[in-house]
Amino acid sequence: MANPFKLLVLPGDGIGPEVVAVGLSVFERLCRLEGIDTEIQHDLLHGAAWEKYGSFCRDETVTAAKQSDAVLIGAVGGPQWDDIVIEGATPAERDGLMRLREELETYACLRPSRAYESLLEQTPFKPQVVRGADILILRELCGGLPYGNPRGIDQLEDGSYQAYDANFYTSEEIRRFAAVGFEIAGQRSGKLTSIDKSNVMESGILWRHIVTEVGLDYPGIELTHLYTDNALYQMMLRPTSFDVVLADNIFGDLASDLVASYAGSLGMLPSASLHGLNPGKSAIYEPVHGTAPDIAGQGIANPIGTVLSVALMFEYSLQRKDLGQRIDAAVEQCLQAGVLTADLGGSASTEQVHEKILSALH
Ligand code: NAD
Repeated sequence: MANPFKLLVLPGDGIGPEVVAVGLSVFERLCRLEGIDTEIQHDLLHGAAWEKYGSFCRDETVTAAKQSDAVLIGAVGGPQWDDIVIEGATPAERDGLMRLREELETYACLRPSRAYESLLEQTPFKPQVVRGADILILRELCGGLPYGNPRGIDQLEDGSYQAYDANFYTSEEIRRFAAVGFEIAGQRSGKLTSIDKSNVMESGILWRHIVTEVGLDYPGIELTHLYTDNALYQMMLRPTSFDVVLADNIFGDLASDLVASYAGSLGMLPSASLHGLNPGKSAIYEPVHGTAPDIAGQGIANPIGTVLSVALMFEYSLQRKDLGQRIDAAVEQCLQAGVLTADLGGSASTEQVHEKILSALH
């Protein structure tokens, strides 16, 4: 573990600052209790950075992120920044978070979701269907559709338009990501499900071929391939039959929002975006949800996705899984005590959830 542990905090937009304040407070409290030295830097990202600096992600921010052990982010974006045109800009230059993911090469995004006993009634499932669900969506984060080129919207001769995006993956991008999937499956139940659309996409054919090839090095792991449409259906039908799910950038994005339903709300889901399983590299921790403009500024956002992201930070960047588990336990206590925000059917404020988690940490 680095000493001091260097953390860069980028609250982002919308509810980002509200939930990051809670995550950071939990991080600082646990570090103080455990005698862990920290060096914390703050900066702006995306909309907030655009308003102050006219850039969605400054070079200085990238440098600070690379020099940090971890980056804690809220969420970024909002309609007020959607239509800003930067001539000739790549997708990453138009999105601060995408630039940071690309610069840090955090290609392996871990998005766990599970069913909490005390929240079963809040899910759209019958309790007996979702009880025991504990899934990890592994989303490839640095390739595929969001970064692909060519892309564009062209006007045709008849005045109508055509739009296109390319889902590019090299065999090496798939290979390094699949290896993380097999490693993590080995640390869990030994079951790995890879999802693709190899029935209709060339990138899917390569994906399935390379994942199968990497699997030859992991004979102890049970690999299953499913078409994404069927996989998402099965995830709804029998949530407990999945463990680790390997998905490209877009399918992973869809799958992780979908399995948030196991936990009762999108606000519950954390993520860790890693440069492989190499603890020496800077990693990004952020909730899966977006900036929720509909509830921003009201003090009612669920901060648990961010708090659980801090738990993942303890596990992967500080190599202190025990402290990550302590945060998980504090969150469980908060849920069991019924201190729930509106998205979970309660009436607690962000601050009340914060206080309950802090008191449960002791
Ligand atoms: P969203 O995740 O912001 O919101 C979807 C729904 O979930 C909303 O009803 C919202 O109120 C609710 N919700 C989300 N997080 C919550 C929380 N912590 N507590 C309580 N309720 C919560 O998705 P969206 O509305 O599609 O997107 C809004 C903006 O966020 C867009 O600009 C989008 O681009 C951006 N976005 C950013 C990220 C990111 O930074 N990683 C991810 C997704 C969306």
